[in-house]
Amino acid sequence: FAISMDQLQLDEELGKGNYGTVKKVLHKPTKVLMAMKEIRLELEDAKINAIIMELDVLHRAVAPEIVEFYGAFFIESCVYYCMEYMDAGSLDKLHGVGVPEDVLACIASSMVKGLKFLKDELNIIHRDVKPTNVLVNQKGEIKLCDFGISGELDKSLAKTNIGCQSYMAPERIKGESQNNLGTYTVSSDVWSLGLSMIEIGLGRYPYPPETYSNVFAQLTAIVHGDPPELPEGRYSETAREWVSLCMRKEPTRRAKYAELLAHPFLSNDSRSTVDMVAWVRKALEYKAKVAAATKAAHMAQLGNPS
Ligand code: ATP
Ligand code: MG
Repeated sequence: FAISMDQLQLDEELGKGNYGTVKKVLHKPTKVLMAMKEIRLELEDAKINAIIMELDVLHRAVAPEIVEFYGAFFIESCVYYCMEYMDAGSLDKLHGVGVPEDVLACIASSMVKGLKFLKDELNIIHRDVKPTNVLVNQKGEIKLCDFGISGELDKSLAKTNIGCQSYMAPERIKGESQNNLGTYTVSSDVWSLGLSMIEIGLGRYPYPPETYSNVFAQLTAIVHGDPPELPEGRYSETAREWVSLCMRKEPTRRAKYAELLAHPFLSNDSRSTVDMVAWVRKALEYKAKVAAATKAAHMAQLGNPS
């Protein structure tokens, strides 16, 4: 069935990205809660129509580790994209000061399975693996979203904002600077996966904070520095090795998805008994506490302007 705007009841805003806003909506005919992403594109209708048609492939992207796609439509120069609503939000706001190793393994396992499914079944390379694109629900499920499905859409998004935290693999950064955009392979996603795992383990973006506000310093560190690692002591050698297999600077030396799944870090049976529901509950409590503290600090600052 096709979704249209008049069937949707708009609810709260869930977040903003570089290209648009995501809102929670209720699809009135089916009573299904959805997340609707609005992407503003200054394009003629024919191009937008081509994008909507390309997005149709997403109806085939059905797997437990992939956020479900419900449909897309456009109004004026905006594309509206409706997907499964994930009620615990994205991983970037759930990791707190770092997650325990068994939870990390569970998240890694879901991400690798999702990426492998996209590659094997649909021949899709994700191209934007990062914690904000890994969504969680209170059932403890971990799912990927925002994969590069539409060439037209990709070309139309102004890729000017590299952002202050880059998940791009070294070869991509080098490729872009040489204006060579053909270098993207599945192994670039493996790097971004490894970097996301370290961020979730550390509880912060792995490259030094000095580089957050200096894009050049950050890209230099990624291209010329040693790859980051999971912290010693807090994580087993098995976990650290798994991550280092993703973080080889030379793309051809990085592990393949099948190897990552077969590695003891993920193949260990005890992983299947992790209580992800309990972890999500705790992570949401922590997130609410941090939000309340931030708000209080903000109010205090408003109260006594210095
Ligand atoms: P970028 O624009 O660089 O991709 P982003 O992934 O943060 O960054 P969006 O994809 O626009 O930007 O998403 C904005 C925020 O909305 C996300 O960080 C996430 O917290 C929230 N969000 C996105 N999709 C959903 C969803 N299906 N369910 C719940 N929350 C979502
Ligand atoms: Mg996103």
